[in-house]
Parts: sequence; C-alpha cells; structure tokens
Amino acid sequence: MLSLVNVNTYYGPSHVLQDVSLSVEKGEIVCLLGANAAGKTTTMKTIFGLVRPRSGSVVFEDRPIERRLPGDIVGGGLALVPEGRRIFPRMTVLENLELGAYTRNNRAEFKEDLDHVCQIFPRVRERLKQVAGTMSGGEQQMLAMARALMSRPRMMCMDEPSMGLSPILVETVFSTIQRIRKEGVTIFLVEQNASMALALADRGYVLQTGKIVLSDTASNLLTNDLVRQAYLGGA
Ligand code: ATP
Repeated sequence: MLSLVNVNTYYGPSHVLQDVSLSVEKGEIVCLLGANAAGKTTTMKTIFGLVRPRSGSVVFEDRPIERRLPGDIVGGGLALVPEGRRIFPRMTVLENLELGAYTRNNRAEFKEDLDHVCQIFPRVRERLKQVAGTMSGGEQQMLAMARALMSRPRMMCMDEPSMGLSPILVETVFSTIQRIRKEGVTIFLVEQNASMALALADRGYVLQTGKIVLSDTASNLLTNDLVRQAYLGGA
C-alpha cells in the first residue's frame, strides 16, 4: 500500500535518510523503531511531502507521491498524526475535527464521520466545545487521532503517539490503534517505545542514523539481540 524505495533526504548538506526502503501492506500495522535523531520524524515528513527526498520514491497505492503537496497526499487517503500531536490549541475540539475533514466538502458525511470518531473516542464527544489546548496530554493525543480519522483515511501514519503519556494512557492509545486497524485502516507507526510497538505491530523496521538496519516480523524483533539491547533495555 505504501512503499519507500531508496529514499535519500537531506537538510542542507546533512544526509539524514540514507537509501531508506520499506513497505506497508494493506491491513498491516508496521512500526519503525529508532533512537533519538535516527530520522523517524524525517521519514514521516518525507512521506507527507513536508521535506522532499533528493532521490528515491514514495509510492502510495501504486502512485508516486514524493512530488505532491501535503494537502493532496492527505486528500488522497493517507493521514498523519504528527509528533507532539499538533492540535490547534486555541480552537475547540469540534473546530479541530472540522479541520481534519477539510479535504472533503460534504456536511452529511461530516456528521456521519463525527459520530463515528466520537464512538471510538467517547472523551472527545464529551468535550466538543472545550478549547483543545486545555485538554490533558492524553486527551490531546486522542483528539489528534480523531482529527486524522476525519479525513477518512485508508492508511494512517502516527509519529510517536505514546510520547509523554503515562503507562495507562499509552495502553489506551495502543488499544485504540488496534481498533482503528480492525475498522480497515492500515497503520504505520513510528515509536521509541519498542516493547509496546512490537506487541501491537505485525512487522517492524529498525532505523539507525538514517539507515534501515533490520526488518522482520514483530515477534522476531522482540527476541532479536540488537533490538533487546538497544530498544528493550537489555530485557
Ligand atoms: P526523535 O525521536 O528525537 O524525535 P527522530 O528519529 O524523529 O528523533 P529526526 O527528527 O528525523 O529524528 O531528525 C534526524 C536528524 O535530522 C537529527 O540529527 C536532526 O537534528 C536533523 N534534523 C531534523 N530536522 C532538521 C532540520 N529542519 N534542519 C536540519 N536538521 C534537521
């Protein structure tokens, strides 16, 4: 469904993504693990046209998207839950959700989708009129996920959804991701929390200083020595 083929991304002279290739098949949850500064967020930015790769291609549902604008990519069925949530803090929860649906222009569908995301996120329904910036970190994460779903994506990319959340909230976020997958949305997840991500994912990739150094099923990665030492605290 999504593939990166020999992607090289630079910031000025700094060569951050080095020949990155990976793929996500329809219906899968695939995670990308990596330490700080490995290039995880840059991978997401490259997928969404927020930085352009100098070479290589990004293909979504058989179409190259590496030269497309971020708005077109989201309108085309691929949604992003960005790092640090990036909700609009001065707007209400409802206004944030309306912005999530901006690529579509059908009021009846909007109501249907709003109902649907409120079923998945009951806390969001309770707080539609609340100013989004006054919600807790966990609630803001739920809102960011709900907002992404409002574009009716066929695939959702999530950048460190567990960041800064307490263990119980991390569990809630991860079980929600599972539910979203069950509803037919393919998931690509970038995480530092390797144990949670691998418990959820079908497959995973390990990114080290801009290069993919490992790719395997999640269960094999959980027992892999490098993964255990570098990402699972040697457990
Ligand atoms: P973290 O888990 O800490 O968020 P990450 O794996 O997401 O890290 P990136 O944010 O992709 O890492 O950063 C990869 C490298 O690219 C880092 O060395 C970072 O300093 C550098 N970098 C990121 N954004 C820019 C930018 N706009 N200009 C220059 N260098 C950048």
